[in-house]
Amino acid sequence: MRMPDPDADVIARRAAIARALRRIVPGEGVIVDEDALRAYECDGLSAYRQPPLIVVLPSTTEQVSTVLRYCHDNGVKIVPRGAGTSLSGGALPLADAVTLGLGKFNRILDIDIENRCVVAQPGVTNLAITTAVQDQGFYYAPDPSSQIACSIGGNVAENAGGVHCLKYGLTTNNLLGVEMVLMTGEVIRLGGKHLDPGGYDLMGVVTGSEGLLGVITEVTVRILRAPETARAVLMGFPDTDSAAATVADIIARGIIPAGLEMMDKPAIHAAEDFVHADYPLDVEALLICELDGPEAEVTHLIERVEAIARDKGATSLRVSTSDAERALFWAGRKAAFPAVGRISPDYYCMDGTIPRHALPTVLKRTAEMSTRYGLRCANVFHAGDGNLHPLILFDANVPDELERAEAFGAEILKLCVEVGGVLTGEHGVGVEKRDLMGEMFSDIDLQQQQRLKCAFDPGQFLNPGKVFPTLHRCAELGRMHLSGGSMPFPDIPRF
Ligand SMILES: Cc1cc2nc3c(=O)[nH]c(=O)nc-3n(C[C@H](O)[C@H](O)[C@H](O)COP(=O)(O)OP(=O)(O)OC[C@H]3O[C@@H](n4cnc5c(N)ncnc54)[C@H](O)[C@@H]3O)c2cc1C
Repeated sequence: MRMPDPDADVIARRAAIARALRRIVPGEGVIVDEDALRAYECDGLSAYRQPPLIVVLPSTTEQVSTVLRYCHDNGVKIVPRGAGTSLSGGALPLADAVTLGLGKFNRILDIDIENRCVVAQPGVTNLAITTAVQDQGFYYAPDPSSQIACSIGGNVAENAGGVHCLKYGLTTNNLLGVEMVLMTGEVIRLGGKHLDPGGYDLMGVVTGSEGLLGVITEVTVRILRAPETARAVLMGFPDTDSAAATVADIIARGIIPAGLEMMDKPAIHAAEDFVHADYPLDVEALLICELDGPEAEVTHLIERVEAIARDKGATSLRVSTSDAERALFWAGRKAAFPAVGRISPDYYCMDGTIPRHALPTVLKRTAEMSTRYGLRCANVFHAGDGNLHPLILFDANVPDELERAEAFGAEILKLCVEVGGVLTGEHGVGVEKRDLMGEMFSDIDLQQQQRLKCAFDPGQFLNPGKVFPTLHRCAELGRMHLSGGSMPFPDIPRF
């Protein structure tokens, strides 16, 4: 993985930068000790590691603003970091950059049941939002499997999804407002408690921007009333094709489950050994389908889903009879990544999205690649959204296995694009998919996206080396930048 060459001048100024940061964030908010920096050297994509220059842990928006302004004025890059669970290397440090951790922004600021929203600091965990409102009968719908650890700020930066996003949308569909600090230290607010902010959809731009546009310091999210009933159906199939056909048919018939997830045999066995969710072990594929809403509707929809599954050849069918049993069905799915971590020294989690009809083709070709690369692969994914998560099993201590895993993963993602899909569903581009962006976007598309980046961060200080395969200087992209009160090309008419 090639990262931008570190700036030797910045590295030489490390002690002075640390002193300046300590003046802004006193106490224990600045980390320079080599051992302590190790804790930040990677995120969830642990194949790539790099200790940061310095870690700074501010606790107020004002401190974030002053840190960014200082770094901007002194030519120092910034890598924002939430909980560090990114699977695409978005929070991977740079040798010449300050990692700015949001862990101290851990307070829920306002629970506003009347307006159905919660205002939280970005370091609050995803699950803590639901926990804070569930006694009053509400919840926050997007539920990444990492929800006990990942931060709501990181969710916004990655546009995170989860098993309930099929029906309730991803982070972007549940976000109402953000406060964000620009690299110059300016603080902006987008959206709020109200719906439909005027002007361009800048919040849409910021959601999924992977720390490249600014540092999010406050988040307002929509909360939903917990459904009257929720039940899950566990369906086992003799092959992945019949499971995939069931997924396609459920959606084609106009049923929108709250969640519709698939696991293949290696994933089922790994999850069962870890969590003991009582999954059937004699099947090749498992679907978990959750229906929620009024009791009568759920009962009706469950009957329809069961009929579809039987028609497609399901060999086992179980409907949850209590909330505890429903939670157990999900426990295996939600713990599938760590479960796979128990059966292999390392794994590489991919994240491509495809049109649902392509599921059987892509799963079959992934199995062929698995044989060709000589690496096992477990599949566990958001089948209803066509969002795949092949987990490639490898051992980094075996020479060339990481390289083979990377090549295998790249081939899967190229296949996703080939069948009409996209490189990422919810884990972001980061460093992992950066060099594959050309598979999906033309040079013109990519340059246009970079112009947007330049509008927010013309000096390219924020998270460089992520997302874009080529670093263009903003000047090359024809940016209009007001500097020292004078604008270039003053003869051009402006309105
Ligand atoms: C076991 C496991 C299961 C997972 N399951 C899912 C899943 O089901 N769905 C899903 O979508 N993801 C999943 N993920 C991936 C990950 O949890 C999400 O991408 C999550 O949103 C990252 O949040 P974080 O706080 O850990 O962010 P980090 O990893 O710290 O950062 C991620 C990116 O966001 C930027 N960033 C973080 N905070 C801010 C901020 N305040 N302002 C600006 N930029 C910021 C960083 O620069 C980086 O680019 C999983 C990860 C693991 C390890």
